[in-house]
This record gives sequence, C-alpha cells and structure tokens, in this order.
Amino acid sequence: MSNPHYDVAIVGGGQAGLSLSWHLAQAGLKHVVFEREQIFHAWKHQRWDSFCLVTPNWQCQLPGYAYHGEAPHGFMVKEEIIRFVDGFAASFSPPVREHVEVLGLTAGDKGFVLKTSQGEATAAKVCIATGGYHRPITPRMAERLPPHLVQLHANQYRNPAQLPPGAVLVVGTGQSGCQIAEDLHLAGRQVHLAVGGAPRVSRFYRGRDVVDWLQDMGHYDLAVTEHPMSEAAREKTNHYVTGRDGGRDIDLRRFAIEGMTLHGHLASVEGDLLGFAPDLQQNLDQADQTNDRIKDGIDDYIAKNQIDAPAEARYVPLWQPPADAAPLNLLEAGITSIIWCVGYQPDYAWVQVPAFTGRGIPVHHRGVSPVAGLYFLGLPWLNTWGSGRFAAIARDAAYLATHIVDLRQNTGQF
Ligand SMILES: Cc1cc2nc3c(=O)[nH]c(=O)nc-3n(C[C@H](O)[C@H](O)[C@H](O)COP(=O)(O)OP(=O)(O)OC[C@H]3O[C@@H](n4cnc5c(N)ncnc54)[C@H](O)[C@@H]3O)c2cc1C
Repeated sequence: MSNPHYDVAIVGGGQAGLSLSWHLAQAGLKHVVFEREQIFHAWKHQRWDSFCLVTPNWQCQLPGYAYHGEAPHGFMVKEEIIRFVDGFAASFSPPVREHVEVLGLTAGDKGFVLKTSQGEATAAKVCIATGGYHRPITPRMAERLPPHLVQLHANQYRNPAQLPPGAVLVVGTGQSGCQIAEDLHLAGRQVHLAVGGAPRVSRFYRGRDVVDWLQDMGHYDLAVTEHPMSEAAREKTNHYVTGRDGGRDIDLRRFAIEGMTLHGHLASVEGDLLGFAPDLQQNLDQADQTNDRIKDGIDDYIAKNQIDAPAEARYVPLWQPPADAAPLNLLEAGITSIIWCVGYQPDYAWVQVPAFTGRGIPVHHRGVSPVAGLYFLGLPWLNTWGSGRFAAIARDAAYLATHIVDLRQNTGQF
C-alpha cells in the first residue's frame, strides 16, 4: 500500500463496518474497510459449534438486506448466520482490505493517519467499528489454579469434545455462560456453574415471543438518552434465554434438578479448593424477578390495548439452593476444565486520539465523537438496544452516513 488517501476509513469488517460501507457506497464516497482477519470473523470463528441466534431472525435487518428466509420467528444457527452475512457482503462488494490490521490511529494534516500492518494510509474521516467484545476477561485468580486444569474463554469454546474428559466449571451466567453450560449439560457432561447477577427473560409469554411484544411496546426504539439508567444501560449484562431448538427459556433451577451443580459468584481460589459467595439464592431470585417485571409490562400493554392474548400462569421456582455455599474441591469433583464467561474489556490502545473516558470507553453521541471526523459504530446501546446487534445496526449506520454526507455537502470537507 503506497500511502493511499480515503474519504472515509472504516476499521473492522463485521456487520457494523460493512453496514456503514453499504451506505457510503450508495452515496458514492471513496472509502475502505480495514479488517485484520477476514470479514465477519467473529461470526465465523468466535462462536461455538451449536451456536444459534438469541434474537429472532426477523430482527436481522442489514442495510438493503433484511432476513428473507422461511423462518422469521426462528433463530439462525451458525452456518445460516454465516450464509446470511456473506450474502449481505456479496450484495454490494464492499471495498475491504482483509488481513490488514490498524495498529495506530493519530490526527494528521489530511484528517487522520492510520498505521496499518501493511503501511500507512490517511483518511478524512474514520469510523471505528471493531465490535464491543475486544479483550476476554480472565480474572487474575485464574493464575492460581492448578496447572493441569484446561482454561478457556467463551470465545474459544467450540464443543464438549474439545475438553478433556471430566467435569467442567463454567464461570458466569450471561448469555454465553448459560448457553455453553447448557451445551455441555445436554452432551451429558457434569457441569458446575458459578451463577452471577445476570437477569433472565422468558422466550415466550402469552402466545408470542417476548421480543415480539417488546417490539410492539416500542422498547427497541427507546434511545439511551431516554433510558431510565441513561448511559449505564450500555454496561448492563444481557438477559439469558436461548434460541436453541426453536427457542426456549434457560431455567438454571431446572438444570439443577437435572444434575448441574450451581454455585454463587466464584470468590476465592486456594489450591484445589474454590470458594463461592453465598449469593446463589439471591442471584436466582433476582433473575426471576426481572423476568416477572418484563411480564408485568407485557400484561399492562395487553390490558391497555385490549389485546386478545391467552392468559399464562407465572413461573413458580422449581428448585431452591441449599442454605450453605459449600466450597468446591476440584479434585474430588473431577473438574478438568474451566470456561470463563465473564465478559470482555474494551481495548482502544491503538487509537491515539482523545475520544475516551477515564475508563477507556468511547465518548460519543449516536456514534459521533467529540473529535471532528471520528466515529464509532456497533457498540452496545450506541443509540438503542439493537445498536450492538443485527436489529439496529442499519439504522445507526444510516445515521452516521447521513452525518458524513451532510458534512461534505454543507462544508465541502474531504
Ligand atoms: C456470544 C455472542 C452472541 C451474540 N448473539 C447475538 C444475537 O443473537 N443477535 C444479535 O443481533 N447479536 C448478537 N451478538 C452481538 C453482535 O451481533 C455481534 O457481536 C457482532 O459480531 C457485532 O458485529 P460488529 O461488526 O459490531 O463487531 P465484530 O463482529 O466484532 O467485528 C469487528 C471486526 O473488527 C476487526 N478488528 C478489530 N480490531 C481491528 C483493527 N485494529 N484493525 C482491523 N480490524 C480490526 C475484527 O477482526 C472484527 O472482524 C452476539 C455477540 C456475542 C459475543
């Protein structure tokens, strides 16, 4: 690459980067997408084999390319998702440079200078679309675990056969932790699950997918600026539920009845002995309470709008944990592997432009940063619930593209 200059450089070739590329292509803007691996790397290489969407297929609405299959209320499995996103890319042939990593971003005379693994480039505008899941978190207590244990992060888990024989400890009960624990449980593995404070939601309620109700209720149009939690909504853990086998609840209490061993938060490591916080009961109860609050909202909506929907009894807890939080002896329990499902940290160390909070989180409004010409896209709650998902990425990308195109028209910049 001999120092090319672009109107816009997009960093990241996932659904966010390519959605913006689609809009810029429509507007005739010279741009490039730098992708350090290959496009849609995360969907292709960072999901387990039995992965399927948690969000219904009808929410997959990429620009000019909405889901058009036969199961709008179903949940695409990994191969179908890959076909879907590849189909989107093929629909407009984005100007992607695969296997080019952007190693540094600084301000320059022409806007920005991008130092890449294949030389330098400049761009008038830059959009960072590197996803919301950068560096997998492994708590430092992991360093004190016995060396014979196999340790993986959620994004390295593929299938039960990848793990050595024996029991497995899954730490964390966000969407990944719960689904991976279920995957192992269904395969007949003995699973221990350290349950955190993630909320849960039922798949279906009163005759419909809960997502359908929330859509009608306007939940997915709520902007973060109007959210009761304001910007803190961006760091909320997702509700656990699954799309597996047509969609169903994830009920950890049922797993316990079926033989999974539940614990509270993992609190300590002393050789082969793991200690857990005495918060299992509280965590299970709170998850159920959130689920109930969502159902209360749906009930209100149905009543207010006089909708004819079947009645449905509320969930009654199937199982209660024992009063004591017993420690776990890894050897006695036959645990040979641990899967960390405790989230990700942002990593923007390569961006040497002042657009971050003290904690390294991007500062922006709807993706427009305070640094002229620098944008973010694809972050959780960038604007609405669907911003970090398939559901609203097209809307967010359209907003940024309009911003960029208007700037060109109104100021002649570029
Ligand atoms: C386990 C899991 C399950 C999910 N399930 C759903 C679901 O059911 N429904 C839904 O709608 N959403 C779901 N999501 C959320 C979201 O849709 C995905 O995370 C999606 O991959 C986000 O797309 P993205 O383009 O924003 O980021 P990514 O797909 O992460 O793409 C970012 C790209 O940037 C590249 N990159 C990073 N740094 C650089 C650099 N410096 N230079 C060049 N390239 C770089 C990466 O290689 C990557 O390809 C899920 C996410 C996870 C983690």
